[in-house]
Amino acid sequence: MYPAGLNIEAPAQASDLFTSDPVATAADLAALARLIDECRKCSLGYSRTHSVPGEGDPRAQLVCVGEAPGQTEDETGRPFVGRAGKLLDDILKAIGLARESVFICNVLKCRPPGNRTPEPMEAAACSPYLHRQLELIRPKVILALGKPAATTLLNQAATVSLGDLRGKVHRYRGIPLVVTYHPAALLRNPNWKPATWDDVRIARRILDGETA
Ligand code: URA
Repeated sequence: MYPAGLNIEAPAQASDLFTSDPVATAADLAALARLIDECRKCSLGYSRTHSVPGEGDPRAQLVCVGEAPGQTEDETGRPFVGRAGKLLDDILKAIGLARESVFICNVLKCRPPGNRTPEPMEAAACSPYLHRQLELIRPKVILALGKPAATTLLNQAATVSLGDLRGKVHRYRGIPLVVTYHPAALLRNPNWKPATWDDVRIARRILDGETA
């Protein structure tokens, strides 16, 4: 018996106390993609045409993480299929990898209108999907394409420069992570290509078991 006036309500069901997070417990990438498509945690879920969960080999040794879908990605529901995507395919080829052999995704799974930079609250709302993707795939190395991907995965302030993050092997939950330029930035600044090739060669060496 509780003292008079003290109204303690029992949960409707004992299981209400232990409700599990469907994203953190999604069984596989397909289940996660369905949750992403249903997601309306931020306004981008209402403005986009298609969600873009990511695609590739669910057992990939390399995962590439970009920023957010652009127009062509929004139209098709596939990541990196515009001009930047063609360049990413070439970057991967340079280290002997076919697009189909890796997994390609973004921090944001929906296109920001006009391709604007993701808002911090959008990245925060969306990043649990990325974390679960990486947990399910468990790649040997992660390639972070550009600053939003790098700062989200490494939990770094947006004020850090890409130059400070490049050229070393970081760790994401124990997995080696290499930072390089975003392919869209390379289209604007082709003189950054040699540095990008240096970065992806680090990733190649990790895949070959030569380092990290
Ligand atoms: N830029 C990105 O960051 N991701 C895409 O999917 C396409 C362009």
